[in-house]
Amino acid sequence: MSGFALWASQTTARVASSASAANRLASYYLEASRAASEEMSLERSYRLVPTYETLAAHAAAERSFVAALHRVQTEGSASDRAQAQAILLTHADFVASAEKVFVAVDRGDTALATRIEYGQAEPLFRVQHDVDRGATEHRKEAFDQLASMRRISATMTWGVPLVFLVGLAIAMVLSTMLARYRRDLDAERAQAVHDSLHDSLTGLPNRQLLATRLHTAVQTGRPVGLVLLDLDRFKEINDTLGHRCGDELLTRVGPRLTAAVRDTDTVARLGGDEFAVLLSDVTSLDAVLNIVEKLRLALELPIQIAGADLSVEASVGIVVSGEHGDDAQTLLRRAEVAMYVAKQRNRGVAVYDPSEDAHDPGRLALLTELRRALDQRELVLHYQPKVSLPSGEVCGVEALVRWEHPQRGLVPPDQFIPLAEHTGLIGPLTRYVLDVALRQGRRWMDEGRPLQIAVNLAARNLADPDLCDDVLTLLDAHGVPAHLLCLELTESAITTEPERALLLLTRLRAAGVSLAVDDFGTGYTSLGQLKNLPITELKIDRAFVGTMTTERSDGLIVRSIVDLARNLGLTTVAEGVEDAATFTALAANGCAVAQGYHMSRPLSAEAFDRWYVETQAVYDVA
Ligand code: C2E
Ligand code: MG
Ligand code: MG
Repeated sequence: MSGFALWASQTTARVASSASAANRLASYYLEASRAASEEMSLERSYRLVPTYETLAAHAAAERSFVAALHRVQTEGSASDRAQAQAILLTHADFVASAEKVFVAVDRGDTALATRIEYGQAEPLFRVQHDVDRGATEHRKEAFDQLASMRRISATMTWGVPLVFLVGLAIAMVLSTMLARYRRDLDAERAQAVHDSLHDSLTGLPNRQLLATRLHTAVQTGRPVGLVLLDLDRFKEINDTLGHRCGDELLTRVGPRLTAAVRDTDTVARLGGDEFAVLLSDVTSLDAVLNIVEKLRLALELPIQIAGADLSVEASVGIVVSGEHGDDAQTLLRRAEVAMYVAKQRNRGVAVYDPSEDAHDPGRLALLTELRRALDQRELVLHYQPKVSLPSGEVCGVEALVRWEHPQRGLVPPDQFIPLAEHTGLIGPLTRYVLDVALRQGRRWMDEGRPLQIAVNLAARNLADPDLCDDVLTLLDAHGVPAHLLCLELTESAITTEPERALLLLTRLRAAGVSLAVDDFGTGYTSLGQLKNLPITELKIDRAFVGTMTTERSDGLIVRSIVDLARNLGLTTVAEGVEDAATFTALAANGCAVAQGYHMSRPLSAEAFDRWYVETQAVYDVA
């Protein structure tokens, strides 16, 4: 529209200025025409009344003529300039002959004056004709310009509203497009925000949204319950039925959990097979436990997938705000610790217990120090003798790690091994222990005392694909034959990773390394598993050994284990032998090896050497 207005105003201005220029030129020509007529009539007057005034008036008319045409020359076009020049030349002739007429009149020569005047007719006609034509042409031009101005104004009369309407229509189209574009953008943005806060598979809120809602709920000051559920054996379902069925199962779990809680509660998926339920405004821990029971029942109802009825169980960790933490981050972490404990111990449900938390700040500090301790070789090994029954001959040692902490003194393994297990430091720690133990083994060999050394492995070590190679390399490096190394594994380590354990143990056993099941009797190893494992030794847990002479049932358990081991072709080692009576009872039961404070506490290498010399390699049974 503004383009149109600009065009209209510029065109009008241009046409108006041309019209006015043409009009001015026309008026100059007219002025010249009038002056020429006056010149002629004054010339004629002079012949009748030859006065000085007439002559002066004639000269003024002549100047006026010339001035008018000079103005044409200044303001007109090139053709105007040429035409004015031609007219001025003809006029000059006319002026010259007029002078001659005046002289003849002054002399009284009427005949000459008439003759000259007669000769003037032609140039005069031409001058008159040319200036009249100039005036007509420019007047016509001015009229034409004015006509086109009228046309422009007529165009503007209907053009302005039309252009306005078109402009309005374009503006409306543009604003509609803009509105739609903004709507699409808003929708996209809303979708992106939704996606970033929800799990794509199940559509449930994700960890971030749960954390935000937990934070908001905690801020209200009312007690909040947080329940973390980790599906049991989900990996098995995934492996046997395929990922699609696994995904299907996960999508069915959400609605079940949601149906079991109130609308104001949040069910979220934290990833993998881990779900969370945020219970706002709970009255007590008991109330949370009741809801957890409902959740577990909801999951246990069979879910039909690929023609199979699957029943889902979950390990559940529970925290309640106020009691277990005051901020979202702490509550989430502690719920995870509780869930981990429930899973590890096959407890189903666990409420957070600080004593089971490997991540409390004191332990965290210990972890940083443990890394340093490994580098600075602050970890030392103590050796506890194992003696044969009934002879009392020293047949080996168990290497037990201790931390010679610069401030805390000698730190027992229970305080840092679980920490190392949780953090991946257990790999380097185990290799360190193996290295120190085998170096000591080599020393004893060189001193003519080839003692078998038992080293403890953690559950995590069994999942370490390089462990076997590293053990064999270390044996080789220290020149210790494989049969002088015994690796001890707990039952829980074997049951957590049965397939990997079997693979690793088979390779180690094939290389000649002895293998013992530690703390036997406290775990869940099935007899079937025991039969298939390439182990050489069962170490009866000291919980039974320590009380075997006072508690009849423990005595029976020890005897049963000894019988079982003998039937499976395994050596039995009794741990925690604290007195002579136990020592004798074990010998009577046919147990092969004893280990315990009764013979010796775990000792540093030097102390062990002294003890060994004093007992002359045979523990005095009497
Ligand atoms: P464990 O392998 O069952 O080791 C035997 C534990 O029983 C040792 O405790 C030992 O000092 C203690 N003990 C020995 N005889 C008696 C006794 O007559 N009475 C009583 N009450 N206790 C006795 P320690 O040294 O504190 O080790 C505790 C646990 O720490 C070990 O249990 C083992 O599971 C773990 N551990 C020790 N060293 C290592 C290691 O180098 N690596 C790994 N992964 N674990 C280790
Ligand atoms: Mg052990
Ligand atoms: Mg043990």
